[in-house]
Amino acid sequence: MELFTAGLLSLEDARSRMLAQISPLRDSETVAITAAAGRITAEAVVSPLDVPPFANSAMDGYALRAADFNRDHPLTVAGKAFAGAPYQGEWPAGSCIRIMTGAALPPGTDAVVMQEQTESSDQGIRILAPIRQGLNIRLAGEDIRQGASVLAAGVRLGAAELPLLASLGIATVRVLRKLRVAVFSTGDELQPVGEPLAAGQIYDTNRFAVHLMLDALGCEVLDLGIIKDDPGALRAAFQQANAAADVVISSGGVSVGEADYTKQILDELGEISFWKLAMKPGKPFAFGRLPDSWFCGLPGNPVSAAVTFYQLVQPLLACLTGQQGEALPARMRARASEVLKKTPGRLDFQRGVFSRTTEGDLQVRSTGHQGSHVFSSFSQANCFIVLERERATVQPGEWVEIEPFNALLGG
Ligand code: AMP
Ligand code: MG
Repeated sequence: MELFTAGLLSLEDARSRMLAQISPLRDSETVAITAAAGRITAEAVVSPLDVPPFANSAMDGYALRAADFNRDHPLTVAGKAFAGAPYQGEWPAGSCIRIMTGAALPPGTDAVVMQEQTESSDQGIRILAPIRQGLNIRLAGEDIRQGASVLAAGVRLGAAELPLLASLGIATVRVLRKLRVAVFSTGDELQPVGEPLAAGQIYDTNRFAVHLMLDALGCEVLDLGIIKDDPGALRAAFQQANAAADVVISSGGVSVGEADYTKQILDELGEISFWKLAMKPGKPFAFGRLPDSWFCGLPGNPVSAAVTFYQLVQPLLACLTGQQGEALPARMRARASEVLKKTPGRLDFQRGVFSRTTEGDLQVRSTGHQGSHVFSSFSQANCFIVLERERATVQPGEWVEIEPFNALLGG
């Protein structure tokens, strides 16, 4: 086994070699927050306001001066304060103001007693529980101070971030321009969907898969279609893609096959490394620099193409857009509920289904056939089962690492 795996590059080494070469994109633009979903902040966002903007009540009840509290003497009600309709007048000592949640505190208030801790009678409001200064009061700026940073640079904007900006009255945000990514498939055997298949042809899966994942990552996709295994056509495709995009992604033709012209042409055009990765699926992978863009060459087998995109291209794109914390998928531990076949020598990304046992542990099973052409294994799975390079077949009950799919694979 050593003989066949000794020259292979580990996934971690490949990833760090890629990331070491690139630096994040700098160009940015300003967009409305209503059009900013999926975009990435180009700079930190600072709050223009205190939140809450004024001191207000945390409860429905009565606003009072804590010094006026006397369990035996009811307080008269001098007025009412509603959210959006504050009480701004004077109010005499020994009185209180009826107040609703979110209403601004009447001047002089230093406590709010909740309605449930009062008793109302003709004499006024009797307070049944002890009062202290600050009770049930939300202070101005208690949540966010004016000038405080609320989002860092490199944050992807979604349902957790954009409503926060809305709550601060921020209508536009500075984001990185979209990454432009050109994609094409190579192979004389490939047909686009919608066309009949002739003898020996198959449908092009990879371009569709990559296009979808790029859409989900918020990239601007330039789809160059299917390119024949012909040096002239391939050279033209690489040149066109390089001129138009920040990143060029092709699939197929990076392994050692008779029709694999890509290597020869890429060597002419740029500085590309052709790696044999110690991972399964996904052994051949190419990465490097074209004159005006970065290049990733995915393997032809659809599962290998999707896994290498997920494990290598995804972190590359995250890094190019300066993203924090999204570069590596999270992993956790689960018990194998059945035998997982494995040969030592390569890091395995088997497709699995994880679930919770009645005891609350995570368990995982395989989706079955793990061939690198079996794309249905993705739709049946909800995670990768990540089996270390030197590991052999896993027995039921052994702990393994799993990586739940993210939104790219329907996680
Ligand atoms: P290659 O790396 O070009 O030698 O391709 C390896 C295997 O993947 C072959 O069986 C190809 O037919 C298949 N393949 C290559 N590209 C695609 C594609 N875009 N969609 C589906 N299968 C592909
Ligand atoms: Mg091919």
